[in-house]
Amino acid sequence: MNPVEIYKRLPATNCGDCKQKACMPFAFALLKGEADISECPWLTDKEKGDMASSVNKNDWQEALISSLKEEIKKVGFREAYGNLGAELRDGKLFIRCFGRDVIVGPDGEIQTQDNLTPWMRMLVLFYIRNGGGHGISGKWVIHSELMGGLMKYKAFQRECEEPLRELFDRHFEKAARVLDGYGSVHPAGFATPNAWLLNVFPMLPVVFLYWPEDDEFESKVTIRFDSTADKYFDVEQLIFLIKEIVEDIEEKTEQMPS
Ligand code: SF4
Repeated sequence: MNPVEIYKRLPATNCGDCKQKACMPFAFALLKGEADISECPWLTDKEKGDMASSVNKNDWQEALISSLKEEIKKVGFREAYGNLGAELRDGKLFIRCFGRDVIVGPDGEIQTQDNLTPWMRMLVLFYIRNGGGHGISGKWVIHSELMGGLMKYKAFQRECEEPLRELFDRHFEKAARVLDGYGSVHPAGFATPNAWLLNVFPMLPVVFLYWPEDDEFESKVTIRFDSTADKYFDVEQLIFLIKEIVEDIEEKTEQMPS
C-alpha cells in the first residue's frame, strides 16, 4: 500500500489522537515504521488487522521502483534528454534535481553523491518516465490552481507549507542558507524579499516565499509552481515531492552548526 491508499482507509478526521498532526502524516509514519496502526484509536480491531497485514513499507516501494525501472528501459534517452532539461553523457542522463547531480543509467539505476530516499528515487524515475516536453510557461500558480489541486490544497498546506513556515520561524538564517546551498536564486517581483527559486527538476521550477510575523500578520509561507508543473507530476506527487524537500531542508538545517 502507498500513503494515499492507507490514508483512504483512515477515518480522515485529523483528530491527532495518534500523536501525529493529522491522518496523512500518520499514513507516512506507518510506512516509515515510525508509528503503529494500533495508535489510531478510531479503527476497529478488524480494520487494524486488515491494515497491519497489508502495510509493508519496503515491499510496495521497491516493487514500484522495479516497475518504473522496467518502463525507463523503454525510454529513448537520446530523444528524451532535451525535453527533460537533462544532459546525455555516455548513454546516461545527468539531471540536476533537489540541488543534487543525479545520474540515471538506461536500466533506471540512479547514482548520486548522497543517498536519495525511496520517494526521491521514485520521483526521479517518474520524471523520466513521463517524458517531459511541456516547457516552462513563466506563469506562477499556487498548488490549488494546478489540475486537481483544489481538492488537495489543504493537504498541501498541511504537509508542505506549514512545516516550512514553522522551520523558518524557528531557524530562518540556517534554513535560508540550506536553500541557498541547493543553488536557489532570489527572484525579484514577489511581495517579499524572502524568495527562493529552485529548479527542483530542470523543468520544474518552484518558488518558496516566506513572510515573517509582524505587528499585523502571522508568519506565512506560500509555494508557487510554474503553471506547467501538473504536466510533469500530478498534484499528489507534487505534495510528496515538496514534502520530501521540506524534510530535507529541515534535516540539513538541524545538522548545521550555530
Ligand atoms: S488518530 Fe486516527 S483519525 Fe485521528 S489523526 Fe490519527 S490516524 Fe487520523
